Amino acid sequence: MTKAGIVTVAGYPNAGKSTLLNQLVGEKLAITSAKAQSTRHRIVGIRTEGEAQMIILDTPGLLEPKDILHSAMRNAALGAVRDADVLVHVVDATRVLYKSPPTFAEAAGLPAAPRARLLLALNKSDLLSDEQRIEMRLAYPHSVLLSATGGDGMPELVAAITQLLPQSPFLYPEDEISTQPVRFFCAEFVRETALEQLGDELPHALACEIEEYREGSKPLYIRAVLHVERDSQKRIVIGASGQQIKKLGKAAREKIERFVGEPVYLDLWVKVLPNWRRNRSALMRLGYDDPTVSR
Ligand code: GDP
Repeated sequence: MTKAGIVTVAGYPNAGKSTLLNQLVGEKLAITSAKAQSTRHRIVGIRTEGEAQMIILDTPGLLEPKDILHSAMRNAALGAVRDADVLVHVVDATRVLYKSPPTFAEAAGLPAAPRARLLLALNKSDLLSDEQRIEMRLAYPHSVLLSATGGDGMPELVAAITQLLPQSPFLYPEDEISTQPVRFFCAEFVRETALEQLGDELPHALACEIEEYREGSKPLYIRAVLHVERDSQKRIVIGASGQQIKKLGKAAREKIERFVGEPVYLDLWVKVLPNWRRNRSALMRLGYDDPTVSR
């Protein structure tokens, strides 16, 4: 029997939540499908390992002082808490050495404990002495002591989360997730936006290719090329004095930003690639794995 569920991670700023999320999501977590992203939550990643699948959600800003928090953001984070099966509460261990941490409900300003099973992750264990680590284990026997930067305790954390996950079939197909890179979805957003804005004018003639995706750049630089089959189609996409492509680029950028969760610089080009639909290598390059598929 497999296990699967929503794992929501929360923590005070600087507790190491982002570092922990990166560790949990890792390389193979890749990205979720566009369909997954259209659910109410922004999924940070999906970790499928052995018989267990974790749908990992973030709670940006949840435990930050209320006055600086956008209420929409808080609502989104509370939704991620409400829907969680397992809540990982990340705490900086050096801050709770001689005083107990607030409960999750206290930290998040909730009237009652959340429905999810709670797991206290005491992070930054590398900053503790051996004696302090022993003290922590005694004081918080059900917590996991870890170092998100060094990786110590990560296997224990994963095992503890897995233990708490409900029995369930996988919520997302394993292969779909690991084979769909972010770039693919960015291309899909651009193509979809073009179809929305250009309507019936270019039904199947459009394909989008992400030529460059500058990981780590701020804003995230993405160069996308919309391929059309003829010069006349290129003129339609660009529009009079570039108005159309500007509008398209703006709407597509906004979708991509929502998807990746950060500001994006979308450098959008239109190129004529004659008969790309009948050109096997062009199709493969554009991300269509089956040349017989027509769109
Ligand atoms: P967030 O604000 O909770 O998302 O925290 P970050 O993940 O950005 O981490 C805040 C700071 O703590 C960064 O400088 C991290 O490198 C550091 N940090 C995170 N985890 C650990 C850890 O396990 N040990 C140590 N020594 N530092 C850590």
